[in-house]
Amino acid sequence: MKLILFGPPGSGKGTQASLLAKKINVPHLSTGDILRLKLNDKDELANELSKIMSSGNLVPDSILNPIVAEKLLSSDCKNGFILDGYPRNKSQSNFLIDFLQKNKIDLDHIIDFKADTETIKNRIIQRSKIENRSDDNLEVIKTRLEKYFAETQPLAGFFRDNFEGKFFEINAMQEISKIQSEIENRLKNA
Ligand code: ADP
Repeated sequence: MKLILFGPPGSGKGTQASLLAKKINVPHLSTGDILRLKLNDKDELANELSKIMSSGNLVPDSILNPIVAEKLLSSDCKNGFILDGYPRNKSQSNFLIDFLQKNKIDLDHIIDFKADTETIKNRIIQRSKIENRSDDNLEVIKTRLEKYFAETQPLAGFFRDNFEGKFFEINAMQEISKIQSEIENRLKNA
């Protein structure tokens, strides 16, 4: 199964992506996780990435698009994938659509996580107490949310219009287990 998850930071899409990935046995491709792993290299690129990410800004497409393309073509992804955190802007979306067409990869579903801003902010603040992410503080959350509303959310509209019958929304303000069972039901009945 080939899925894309959309949703604001803190909407829990990473949590659900990882639960679902185990259940349906496909890789969870989180661009945030992939980039955070790169930070361990402690080279020049890691330095550059670290600055961008801890400010809440988007990493350049020229860095991210080839990473995603390579992952999607790897044998791990031949039975499917869950893409989480990508595409995040129009140019990534254009790149992805073109890439999928050229490689005859058909998406099965696009899931859009819906949650209000207050809930999201609270969740990220809670998460910051457990995980040590440099971008989980109020100032940076503001930038991440601005980026999300300006660049990423409009993409969901594009996918809704162009992938009719494959796109659905999920209420992400519910408990983790409730969201999980709603997603599984939607996928079963699709
Ligand atoms: P969240 O969705 O909770 O904000 P992620 O873990 O998905 O966090 O991403 C963390 C950071 O990694 C982003 O703020 C951004 O700097 C970078 N990043 C992740 N995915 C992308 C992407 N598709 N394009 C550009 N930057 C990205």
